[in-house]
Amino acid sequence: MPERSLRGIPAPVLLVLYLAVALAPLGIAYVRGGPSRPFLDDFSSALALVAFAMMLMEFVASGRVKTVSGRIGIDLTMRYHQLLARALLAFALIHPFLYTTPMGYPLPWDETGQLRLGLDGASIATGVLAWILLAVLVVMAIWRRRLPFRYESWRGSHALLSVVVSGLVAHHALAAGRYSQDPVMVGFWIVLLAVAVLSLGYVYTLRPVLQARDAYEVTAVEPVAERTWEVRLRALSGEGLAFMPGQFAWLKLGRHPYRITEHPFSIASAPQESPDIRFLIKEAGDFTGRIGETETGARAYLDAPHGNFTYMGREAEGLVFIAGGVGIAPILSMLRALRAAADPRPMTLVYGNRHAGQIVARDELAAIRQEMKLDLRHVLGEPPEGWRGERGQLDQRTLAHCLPPRPGEGWLYFVCGPGPMIDAVEDHLAALDIPASSIISEKFDYD
Ligand SMILES: Cc1cc2nc3c(=O)[nH]c(=O)nc-3n(C[C@H](O)[C@H](O)[C@H](O)COP(=O)(O)OP(=O)(O)OC[C@H]3O[C@@H](n4cnc5c(N)ncnc54)[C@H](O)[C@@H]3O)c2cc1C
Repeated sequence: MPERSLRGIPAPVLLVLYLAVALAPLGIAYVRGGPSRPFLDDFSSALALVAFAMMLMEFVASGRVKTVSGRIGIDLTMRYHQLLARALLAFALIHPFLYTTPMGYPLPWDETGQLRLGLDGASIATGVLAWILLAVLVVMAIWRRRLPFRYESWRGSHALLSVVVSGLVAHHALAAGRYSQDPVMVGFWIVLLAVAVLSLGYVYTLRPVLQARDAYEVTAVEPVAERTWEVRLRALSGEGLAFMPGQFAWLKLGRHPYRITEHPFSIASAPQESPDIRFLIKEAGDFTGRIGETETGARAYLDAPHGNFTYMGREAEGLVFIAGGVGIAPILSMLRALRAAADPRPMTLVYGNRHAGQIVARDELAAIRQEMKLDLRHVLGEPPEGWRGERGQLDQRTLAHCLPPRPGEGWLYFVCGPGPMIDAVEDHLAALDIPASSIISEKFDYD
């Protein structure tokens, strides 16, 4: 298999691009703005201009545009999406309270907005509504788990509300904004609005059309551990998916791809198994809870590959894998690919479960240990009598015991599982002096 590498814009370039777009309206306003106003007024306008640019960039930074998330990974992309949403909300909330120029209808002889803020009934209405709905949008995302909605309902409302708020802000800015009425600024907003709408349109309209041409068939659904299923798909085209071991896919099941219900799952098979593709799915809620009822022959659609959780394209003298529960899925994909490629590097797998019935692919892992330089460590929280493996949690004590004593500088650490487990393992690894740059994590939830 040819060596592949992660696609997407590198982090430093992303940062520069982000700052350039977020600050561009300030540059345009500075060059083309009218006579200066009191500092607080211009500061308030600056907050609003930057907040609007940030808001439109949130559409592109929603985790679905591979050019953005391809290198930095979905986890970091979502962390920034959430962080930047909070920051832009703060800018937007403060902005109306800083003006010192009186509010009021635009005066025909005040073309540069020196004497009045130039708000009419419609622009006040859209401004106030956008201000309230933006707060609702962000607060609903922060408190998503506490709300009595299904994940899918929340996600649909999040997308819809984002479009509505952007439309309201666009009207408010173009109708009342002192700087946004300048033709160059209008052009800038039109381009940014088009990028935002196109990125959303791609996810919800164009991508399903492409998926319809690239359908998969479910060829097997089998229980492989307690409440955990292996789902096997085959590409109907006969052409397999080009992915790197460890990456994940958005999966839709059903007769057609024009539905918004889709779920992210790591690919558990190796690329060498193409055109077959396997997932390990643990029952967690309404979709996964019924995965065992999926019939063979059912249609499936994938948006893939996503994510940067892979050893490919990275230099490493040795590899450490740390999996919690079903977090073994992308790690199995990597181990299966490394085995198929007869990779000679030393590796360690620390695989934590609560009890032995939850261990997936136990025999296969034992076989990989026989064939490769793999140090395999099972850790059980509730071990059965006579258990000879590790006992307890994936904590600092267990990790210190299981990890290679003095791994060279060039080792990479892959950690996968539920969010709280990842946070804890990352802290333990830091306490063991493993540099953060050597740790690559994949969280199975975004919160
Ligand atoms: C990158 C990534 C890879 C994953 N890989 C695997 C895997 O290999 N095997 C596995 O069993 N699980 C995996 N998960 C977790 C899996 O996506 C969720 O368990 C599943 O979506 C839950 O759906 P549900 O309707 O059954 O449960 P629910 O009760 O509806 O959801 C439980 C939680 O799962 C998350 N979730 C639910 N639906 C979605 C969705 N459509 N998109 C994003 N998050 C959602 C939300 O945080 C939600 O609160 C992965 C998650 C991520 C982010």
